Amino acid sequence: MILKNGVLVTLDPQHVERSELRIEGDRIVERGPALTSGPGEEVLDLAGALVLPGLVNAHTHLYSALARGMPGPTDPPRGFVEILEKVWWRLDRALDEESVHLSGLVGAIEAARSGTTTVFDHHASPSCVRGSLDMLRRATEEVGIRSVLCYETTDRNGLEGRDAGVAENRAFLAAGPTALTRGMVGAHASFTLSDESLDRLAGTVREAGSSLHVHVAEDRADVEDCRGRCGAGVVERLRLHGLLGPGTMLVHGVHLTAAELREAQDAGAWLVHCPRSNMNNAVGQAPTTAFRRAALGTDGLDQDMLAEARVAFLKMREAGRADASAAALAMVVVGHRLAGAFFGLPLGRLDAGSPADLVVLDYRPLTPLTAANVAGHVLFGLDRSHVRSTMVAGRFVVRDRAVTTVDEAAVFARARAAAERLWDRMQQL
Ligand SMILES: [Zn+2]
Repeated sequence: MILKNGVLVTLDPQHVERSELRIEGDRIVERGPALTSGPGEEVLDLAGALVLPGLVNAHTHLYSALARGMPGPTDPPRGFVEILEKVWWRLDRALDEESVHLSGLVGAIEAARSGTTTVFDHHASPSCVRGSLDMLRRATEEVGIRSVLCYETTDRNGLEGRDAGVAENRAFLAAGPTALTRGMVGAHASFTLSDESLDRLAGTVREAGSSLHVHVAEDRADVEDCRGRCGAGVVERLRLHGLLGPGTMLVHGVHLTAAELREAQDAGAWLVHCPRSNMNNAVGQAPTTAFRRAALGTDGLDQDMLAEARVAFLKMREAGRADASAAALAMVVVGHRLAGAFFGLPLGRLDAGSPADLVVLDYRPLTPLTAANVAGHVLFGLDRSHVRSTMVAGRFVVRDRAVTTVDEAAVFARARAAAERLWDRMQQL
């Protein structure tokens, strides 16, 4: 297939060029101003639409996809830990196989419709742990997006629950990667994990040659708990248990010190910044000036990375940063590097040899769009309503605003019915 008359926009380095792409299999095989089509080759005229590399959501919870609009707790939560206890830990306990599968489908559809081609998911469903990651794999692959999956191990459902979480991570990793899916080792957070639990997770990380994906210092409560347990900070606790190293994903980091952030990033860990979630949970302003290897995550709010990037930018402006637009764009780029590291692919590029993961946007700039002002257009102009088509590994998942891989209306109808039952079960807990 040839994509012609597109305006190709890449972010690292920032570049804007009217050019054409030849896609074969899962790759871009040629890029040039006037490609000649071969026999039987489809030529798709993009008529001046923008083409961007597919976006990466570095931290999400697909399991919360059916939570949109659900009734809030009767007794309003006071603070972060009560938000978990009264909302999210009741929701995840109420999930069954059907709701996990449907969450995966609607979350993946929403990702594709937002131009997000890869999601890093942090899954919890304590009432159906075993096989849950494979259920999510089937759902995301059915829709056709890439994912990196793990199970959020925690002590809060007893030792049996914890062991089931570790076993689920281990089993999923042992089954091996597929073309679109990778595994890693998931952990909820330091404050819900004993030393023994961390050691078990470290054993799994070592055996599988994997790395940990964990919430870190999201709220002050995690930091205070850690001081109480071991007299150290969360980064040090993870390091002491052999859980800090290349590929470790530390999510939020709102209450990490500059020294902790330096240590973690020097060790090869990735940070994930979730500014909208931080605002929603009122956990504080993340110390982004010390974030060097930080990608963006939606933390399950939706799968919309253009919205997350805009809020990341605005929060940094609010904090007085003059370099906020460059910093926000850099976080989008780190998302590509992060996903590229997990898939062993040069994601984030639109060159010959790159994976054909891209998004086509109906965006008609009302001011000049050049390499010098890409950030301005991405942060102030683009939003997911511009997404016309999304391609993952050479296959259109969304084409001309229609999902091509699953019957979207039927999936949403099933999801609405399942959500109603899920919300009912939550009331019983
Ligand atoms: Zn999270």
